[in-house]
Amino acid sequence: MNLQTSRTVLSSARDVVILGAGLIGLATALELADRGASVTVIECGRSLASASTAAAGMLAADDPCNHESLRDLSHLSIERYPGFLRRIEQLSGLQVPFQTETTLQYIAGGPALRLSEHSIDPRQLAVALLAAIGSTPIQLLESTRVTSIQTDASGNRLRLEDGSSLAARAILYATGAWTSETSLLLEGESLSVSPRKGQMLRVRISPSHPLQEVHRSERIYIVPRTHGPQAGTAVIGATVEEAGFDTAVNQHDLDGLRSLAAALIPSLGSIDDAPTVESWAGLRPATPDLLPMLGSGLQSGRFVATGHYRNGILLAPATAVVMADLLEGRSPAVDLSAFSPLRFHATS
Ligand SMILES: Cc1cc2nc3c(=O)[nH]c(=O)nc-3n(C[C@H](O)[C@H](O)[C@H](O)COP(=O)(O)OP(=O)(O)OC[C@H]3O[C@@H](n4cnc5c(N)ncnc54)[C@H](O)[C@@H]3O)c2cc1C
Repeated sequence: MNLQTSRTVLSSARDVVILGAGLIGLATALELADRGASVTVIECGRSLASASTAAAGMLAADDPCNHESLRDLSHLSIERYPGFLRRIEQLSGLQVPFQTETTLQYIAGGPALRLSEHSIDPRQLAVALLAAIGSTPIQLLESTRVTSIQTDASGNRLRLEDGSSLAARAILYATGAWTSETSLLLEGESLSVSPRKGQMLRVRISPSHPLQEVHRSERIYIVPRTHGPQAGTAVIGATVEEAGFDTAVNQHDLDGLRSLAAALIPSLGSIDDAPTVESWAGLRPATPDLLPMLGSGLQSGRFVATGHYRNGILLAPATAVVMADLLEGRSPAVDLSAFSPLRFHATS
């Protein structure tokens, strides 16, 4: 692999070290490894245990609430999704089927639109993706913290909490809602990403009224699970809250979600007809303009892929391919200027 930032080849260096084993970090790791790069992923906690498995799993490329600038990246991702899932299946032997194929989009004051749009179960994807990663030469270090990073003409040296160190020709920050904290490791750079809490619940659906498609308005969505371990249930979400890193679930908020869902599908209002299976909260990574940050940082050899906010499951395959292109010094198929990590830096 010919990395853009490789001025000198470090004999024992990895081509790329990725910080963060969420869906964005691991999808990019897989794409890079498929292109022949040596990749290490460093995760401070457990892989795929944060936003990427808290999500509903809609691939909502045509949600009318989406920012116009996301169009091309979203459609690239939709094109790449079947191949992405097939690659994971080849490596892991585990299928990740689409759960739904259409979405009924409710428009205030107008008729509902039926969109051709898929959804997946992010937890099913997580199990298969981790098995796929395990079958490749990608090195995945969990419960591991980087304490400092030094960059010079020969590349980057990362020091780990246990005193060991690692050399890398390029570093990719894929640290989700924690990116502002992580950017303290980036001398002179500050990446403005903050957590946006989302609470959700999953309910059992009566077999006499099965749900086959997503129902979504501006305020609420109902995402049925039709295959796999969660079949026969539906996810109802989600709140959007500025609550720091708090992930507590509040019954009052869950009741609010349920009553919004009942306005679309009345049986969801009854705990007897649709008993709660579980509830949880996750942290979406949000930038000040709610668009992702995809590109290189101020310093050579540092790259960023974060801030996917409400669409990181949708955008993962496209993010993987555009970031691998950038790391290789190629022009990505999609114009990334709206997503520059430097757009929030003062120019003075
Ligand atoms: C309630 C909810 C519903 C959602 N629904 C959808 C949906 O239907 N469709 C959709 O497309 N998107 C959805 N999303 C958004 C989507 O989940 C996120 O955009 C996406 O998961 C972000 O992925 P990520 O890899 O950037 O972050 P994460 O999955 O949060 O991963 C980041 C990882 O980085 C690790 N990390 C942090 N700091 C460090 C460090 N210093 N060193 C090493 N590792 C570090 C963390 O431990 C974590 O594992 C939803 C999100 C929520 C919360």
